[in-house]
Amino acid sequence: MSARIGIFGGTFDPIHVGHLIIAEQVMVELRLDHVVFVPGGIPPHKEASSVRASALDRLAMVEVAVKSNERFSVDRIEVDAGRAMHTVETVPLLKRRSPEDEWFFITGADEVSNLLTWRDPDLLLEEIVMVAATRPGFDLAKLQHLEDSLQNFDRIFPVECSRVDISATSIRRRLLQGKSVRYLVPEEVYGIIEERGLYVGESKRKDERSLKEETL
Ligand code: ATP
Repeated sequence: MSARIGIFGGTFDPIHVGHLIIAEQVMVELRLDHVVFVPGGIPPHKEASSVRASALDRLAMVEVAVKSNERFSVDRIEVDAGRAMHTVETVPLLKRRSPEDEWFFITGADEVSNLLTWRDPDLLLEEIVMVAATRPGFDLAKLQHLEDSLQNFDRIFPVECSRVDISATSIRRRLLQGKSVRYLVPEEVYGIIEERGLYVGESKRKDERSLKEETL
């Protein structure tokens, strides 16, 4: 019997409870058997915006975050590629592993509203049903403009999820400001951020090093 599989792509810089909540809610709503998280390379337009974690740090955080859910897993295809891959490249590679299954691509509705800037959006929609998970403040009417430009517009499927007002950007900003992000991310992710000194900025890391040296 064929399975229904969700692919959840993102930069996950870092993964947070908002991501986990939409993966879980979409999985249940669409009766998916499984959700595969696919952390990507950081796309060029995101690179400059703030202190970011390496692909391996982001992968490690996704791995610990999904561990307790037996229907979640992680695929490192894009991390191993060592570059930002276009979704239209990644999806056929993943589907090839079990072409008999039904595949869904989960993404935030705000990302879907930018779909015309993605590479070959119509081709992508031929390959996979796109699930648009709503996020705080999002008006679904914002997807309507896609109808005129995309032949496969009917392959976009909105799913109303709990509104969780957390973004990776706000988490990175809080860390830079020395604020707590505990409970915005799973406890094990928080542990990795603390242990590896992620997102605090080069100057703060240097301060901590010299403080340690002074106390030795
Ligand atoms: P950033 O702030 O760095 O852009 P992000 O969390 O918005 O981070 P990704 O890590 O790439 O971005 O997120 C993966 C997907 O999850 C995206 O499609 C994004 O729209 C969606 N997403 C992220 N946070 C939420 C949220 N709180 N509710 C609904 N969708 C979300």
